[in-house]
Amino acid sequence: MKPAVFLDRDGTLIEDAGYLDRLDRIALFPWTVDAIRALNRAGFVVVVITNQSGVARGFFTEAFVEETHRHLSARLAAGGARIDAYYYCPHHPDGKVPALSIVCECRKPARGLVDRAVSEFGVAPERSFVIGDRWVDIGLARIVGAKGVLVRTGYGVLEEHTPPRGINADAVVDNLIGAAAWILKEI
Ligand SMILES: [Mg+2]
Ligand SMILES: [Zn+2]
Repeated sequence: MKPAVFLDRDGTLIEDAGYLDRLDRIALFPWTVDAIRALNRAGFVVVVITNQSGVARGFFTEAFVEETHRHLSARLAAGGARIDAYYYCPHHPDGKVPALSIVCECRKPARGLVDRAVSEFGVAPERSFVIGDRWVDIGLARIVGAKGVLVRTGYGVLEEHTPPRGINADAVVDNLIGAAAWILKEI
């Protein structure tokens, strides 16, 4: 069973552009490539898990989400970094696309996307980490028994001061490279 790092996408890996609906709005943080490469070298399975309710809301298609991820992977590969898988939740109970407008098992903080990594990569959640800019990311870490690192990019700078009752992060750091450094020290 392998350890993984589960990365939130918007606000963690790339700038949070609201509902990202154009490839030219993808903006990696300057440290993203280095952070992911460091996690690759440390032997982690690196998986992006992202809520993309814009699909259920009819703002963009699943094909666009997948195109975004291919684009991201190409940018990362140019710097020697690799995402092993991208898992996304296209659902939302208040969506417009009927088939996707449901309460699902995969919208964070529900654990469905982590369970996919467990079955596809043999990941051990209790040896793994979740990095994200929102408390749902940390809530997911709690639910699966992983450690949760909140970053101050994206919504994190605001979220830091409003933790939900009973939820706290294992670390709060400035950004993804800070999170990677914290994780490498933990292991
Ligand atoms: Mg986010
Ligand atoms: Zn879902």
